Amino acid sequence: MVSLEEFAKKWETDFACLSPVARRYPFRLNSYFEGLIRKAGDSIWKQVVPDTREITDTSGFEDPLAEEALSPAPNLVHRYPNRVLWLVNDRCALHCRFCTRKRRWTESPLREPDIKPALDYIASQEQIADVLLSGGDPLLLAEDRLYEILAKLREIKHVEIIRIGSRVPCALPGAVTPRLAAMLSRFHPLYINIHFNHPLEITPESRLACSILADAGISLGSQTVLLRDVNDSEEILAGLFQKLLTIRVRPYYLMQMDLTSGTGHFRTPVSTGLRILRKLRNWISGPAMPQFVIDLPGGRGKIPLFPNMIREINDREMIVKNYKEEYCIYPLLEGESEGLRAELAPR
Ligand SMILES: *Cc1c(COP(=O)(O)O)cnc(C)c1O
Repeated sequence: MVSLEEFAKKWETDFACLSPVARRYPFRLNSYFEGLIRKAGDSIWKQVVPDTREITDTSGFEDPLAEEALSPAPNLVHRYPNRVLWLVNDRCALHCRFCTRKRRWTESPLREPDIKPALDYIASQEQIADVLLSGGDPLLLAEDRLYEILAKLREIKHVEIIRIGSRVPCALPGAVTPRLAAMLSRFHPLYINIHFNHPLEITPESRLACSILADAGISLGSQTVLLRDVNDSEEILAGLFQKLLTIRVRPYYLMQMDLTSGTGHFRTPVSTGLRILRKLRNWISGPAMPQFVIDLPGGRGKIPLFPNMIREINDREMIVKNYKEEYCIYPLLEGESEGLRAELAPR
């Protein structure tokens, strides 16, 4: 781990200015990820270096997704009928400054909570077919602890699939070992969603980590957060999504920033995400296209948003704009236009 003091000295940045921010929201960075920084203030830097706007921000909520309110057992969030989110670890390889769960950073880091209440709850709810492990980062748990959680979940007959959300393959790729992958592969079907935000995060090390996991038969997806001044451009995200396919990671979600206190400076307008998706469609491979989602405040769920490709509808045809920004005609059936308008009109 790199201390803030060392970091400030090395990068000739003002420690006195950063330390009050880090007192509220602790700094956490490892030397691998620090090594990806090319210069002060770049896209890697902004993700991990404290910013005074974190403590002056008055927008947002401590718990924007109402995870605590939707929790039937400690660290378990049950929002959708068939799946639960289980926060099995408080620790991460990094503290991403835009983290939705910043509120949990200052809690005691070495807590090893009892897993029994969560397991009992999952066992008691037969509609739960899908368990998502997140945190913190599940892949930073001691291997025998993670093994125990996975083995106990697999004893529950109605749990069909297990998903892990992790930033380790991107943020601390050396922690992904063939031994870890072999352990995980005992619990198929197992999916891992990795948090990648920028093409600079795809390195020989993260490529190797992903190939170790993919070779163990684990399906890899990515979740990317759309971040102002970090990755909010077509060029950067086209590069990221297309490059992810080369390391066998399928882009899954591009996420609008949650309304978390202390992260307002990262938020982009909703139109930015829609514009980016519209422009990328057919410029990059189909499987490189993620869904753009907003996780609604108050735990109301994730909704995908789609760019509206239709520019005009008349009685005989609709006019669409393609990936080259050309207007194209598609003929409509007789009487179809009304139904199409109704389908598109906001209600
Ligand atoms: C995101 C999330 C899920 C998983 O959603 P998918 O769209 O299936 O990936 C499940 N539970 C909670 C509480 C979530 O926030």
